Amino acid sequence: MSQAAADPTVGSATHCPYCALQCGMYVREGEITPREDIPANAGGLCQKGWTAAELLTSPERLTTPLLHGSPVSWDEALDYVAARIEAVRAGHGPDAVAVFGGGGLTNEKAYQLGKFARVALRTSQIDYNGRFCMSSAAAAVNRAFGMDRGLPFPITDVARADAVLFAGGNVAETMPPFVRHLTAMRSGGGRLVVVDPRLTPTAKMADLHLQVTPGTDLALALGLLHIAIADGYADLDYLAARTTGFEAVRTSVSAWWPERVERVTGVPVARMREAVRILGEAERAMVLTGRGAEQHAKGTDTVTAFVNLALTLGLPGRAGSGYGCVTGQGNGQGGREHGQKADQLPGYRKIDDPAARAHVAAVWGIDPADLPGPGRSAYELLDALGTPEGPKALLLFGSNPVVSAPRAGHVTRRLEALDLLVVSDFVLSETAAMADVVLPTTQWAEESGTMTNLEGRVLLRRQAAAPPPGARTDLEILRGLAERLGCGEKFPADPRTVFDELRRASAGGVADYSGITYERIAAETGVFWPCPETRGEPHPGTPRPFLDRFATPDGRARMVPVDHRPPAEDVDEEFPLYLTSGRVLAHYQSGAQTRRIRPLTQASPEVFVELHPDLAERLGVAPGDRVRVRSRRGAAEGVARVNASIRPDTLFMPFHWEGVNLLTNPALDPTSRMPEFKVCAAALERCEDGERVA
Ligand code: SF4
Repeated sequence: MSQAAADPTVGSATHCPYCALQCGMYVREGEITPREDIPANAGGLCQKGWTAAELLTSPERLTTPLLHGSPVSWDEALDYVAARIEAVRAGHGPDAVAVFGGGGLTNEKAYQLGKFARVALRTSQIDYNGRFCMSSAAAAVNRAFGMDRGLPFPITDVARADAVLFAGGNVAETMPPFVRHLTAMRSGGGRLVVVDPRLTPTAKMADLHLQVTPGTDLALALGLLHIAIADGYADLDYLAARTTGFEAVRTSVSAWWPERVERVTGVPVARMREAVRILGEAERAMVLTGRGAEQHAKGTDTVTAFVNLALTLGLPGRAGSGYGCVTGQGNGQGGREHGQKADQLPGYRKIDDPAARAHVAAVWGIDPADLPGPGRSAYELLDALGTPEGPKALLLFGSNPVVSAPRAGHVTRRLEALDLLVVSDFVLSETAAMADVVLPTTQWAEESGTMTNLEGRVLLRRQAAAPPPGARTDLEILRGLAERLGCGEKFPADPRTVFDELRRASAGGVADYSGITYERIAAETGVFWPCPETRGEPHPGTPRPFLDRFATPDGRARMVPVDHRPPAEDVDEEFPLYLTSGRVLAHYQSGAQTRRIRPLTQASPEVFVELHPDLAERLGVAPGDRVRVRSRRGAAEGVARVNASIRPDTLFMPFHWEGVNLLTNPALDPTSRMPEFKVCAAALERCEDGERVA
């Protein structure tokens, strides 16, 4: 009998600590090799994955709790935190204590964190950094399809498509093994269209690049839809059988004639027509979106417009075709299903739904009336910290908002205004360095738990290495705090026990995990949700949930008219350039992990500002000059990188260092509460000393 069969939670076969591809890998005595059995990567890894073992032996690893910077015992740290929580609650009520989670936490941790907030703390104030990642796409597809599963098809379907339009995604840098699916698609004669303001490595491999002006993806999608209808590519039989609302959408795009869209987006009409022809003539076609199209104050409507395009072409719910959003964070999918979001309960249930409250309260053994209601969304929560009406204490797990939050300088000042900041992390991130109490946690391959990748495939992250003495799992930390708050028995620290409770809490919900067990995941290399528990034959899981019907009450996809509007902050005389941000190959999210790995920092050591040669000449900037970028919220410096792959009116900065998010506009999408990370107005100048650093 294999080791995995004996105990599925322990073994060398595990998954990468970083992005939502969740590449399979073996971790053996500090060596990493890729797994062949996980379809997402099938033997491939990127540089981040290959070097991930360095995290396990990082000299910067925390192994002792810190109280105001000094090492203390676990009892001292947890006693202090519990006493301060009680004092804040006594003085200001339960909503004065807030919780902030992360899209990289395992399903078990995300679930337990949501339960801890509502049951142990009785607070409504919980949200997580995934709000900054997936919320616009999630809101749009929940509205259209009644269910938010990033890719509602296996990733291997991409390789068999005849055409893919990818708006705002740069997988060649963010998740390189994804490229093999696009390459296979193109090798089979398929064609790739990429929408991006930059000629990214992904755009370079495309057959057609639509170099859109930042903040105008929505207008582009409306224009593509206008052309698709005008040129006869609308699948009227499919629309009649599987959708509602097409006539209203048709009317709404009638004013978005191609020449008008060209003026707004900068994309030539001929290129738009070619993109529509590629999609319209393909037998199997896909429309995908990433953060570039989604992280805007109109991100929900932008995704809705791309979904409307896909529906008009008859793609979603057809085998080999579809619409999908490519999730970013490691557990970005599972992280939004189990209740760490301000408006949700486990199973992707709504917290204001009486039936959902009754079901989850029964699993948790509490009165539904004792469950708090919806709380503030992520940015609104951070913005309220330490204010007279906002939370006075914050417990933070798996997030580094000092670097990753929009308008980060302001968020840092809000964190400073707290009476109590507690951070659970395995290194001293920029946010942990500010904390009253730092709790050293185990990481990734040192613990077991489940992750749900970008396909909706639930995977088992096995414990492949022993944690250092002194570190505890987040589940153990929550258990320790719950004990001190008088409800320890409700918070088991064993991941499998937590998962079994999660299964019961999710049963009957949209994201139903009740039929998934650790043994099944191990035996089947992952199980697609929804997967309800059955009395007879086990449910097989659902790789393609929309083949017969969508998850709406009438089974039809809902088409909703949307309209374009300019960015929340447009360029003007004082700030004449668009500023956008993204990731680079060597780093992940706020860089708290990857900036501690030598080969990655050597490959990409510091923040840079990418600008076009024409702009550089006009501003007197040479490659390697230190430049300063300003917006209405602050200033940040970086090294100038001059190349023609970016539009002359646009600047790009990576967000893995403190910098670009000092500048970003926190304007929120009215539906998803997503901040406008991807565009704001900025100005650039060469630093006075003109220091040349490269
Ligand atoms: Fe795979 Fe993403 Fe890890 Fe790279 S970072 S190895 S793409 S999971």
